Amino acid sequence: MKYKRILLKLSGESLMGAQGYGIDPERLAVYARQIKEAAASGVEIGIVIGGGNIFRGLSGAAKGFDRVKGDQMGMLATVINSLALGNALTDAGIDADVYTAIPMFPIGEPYSKWRAIDSMRRGRVAIMSCGTGSPYFTTDTGSALRAIEIEADVMLKGTRVDGVYTADPEKDPTAEKFDVITYDEVLRRNLKVMDITATALCKENNMPIYVFDMDTEGNLMKMLRGENVGTLVTC
Ligand code: UDP
Repeated sequence: MKYKRILLKLSGESLMGAQGYGIDPERLAVYARQIKEAAASGVEIGIVIGGGNIFRGLSGAAKGFDRVKGDQMGMLATVINSLALGNALTDAGIDADVYTAIPMFPIGEPYSKWRAIDSMRRGRVAIMSCGTGSPYFTTDTGSALRAIEIEADVMLKGTRVDGVYTADPEKDPTAEKFDVITYDEVLRRNLKVMDITATALCKENNMPIYVFDMDTEGNLMKMLRGENVGTLVTC
């Protein structure tokens, strides 16, 4: 395998599947099967999942909601998704531990770098919820932070798009895909790969980002075998 330890970021929004809200069990199962296959190949796996399918602090604030409270609700949404994913992994026959950046035992274990690494070394998947644990951040930034902390070889951003494009491929049919792009180029072109904070954190700590379509079953293993199924963001 190309990488020994990965941090996989899954978006909450993708969990909705075709339903348009909440958690689609079919989509969860597609993720669980791919994660199980990757774990069986000996890759150590940490996961951060978003909460956009349930609540986003920014959309709350737009309706007059206190931003910090809204962000706390968003972080709780990531816990709900993490529990759902942990359960789907158990159903698929792979053990997972859910960690929370904000202590809320017994819903999850309090997060620490060493606990997460210990889970992964024992062949279990470490799901790290609550993003960074602080408001005004996103789970993209949370996953960049966790990838760096747990000393992952790469941060995989699994989305519904198969890489980084010159423009939004869902809106602009002339958009072209990059195989490799630098952090600086992403920032300069203001490409919506991840938010600026997350991209800058990866840049400062030399954490490569790989953007790929995780909703297509089999892509995670293809990526880990070194096949070109997405875009690498590097220095
Ligand atoms: N959030 C936060 N701090 C973090 C991570 C997330 O406050 O470190 C909140 C924020 O309100 C965000 C919500 O949780 O909108 C859900 O996360 P995100 O929007 O990143 O989810 P995704 O877009 O990946 O589904």
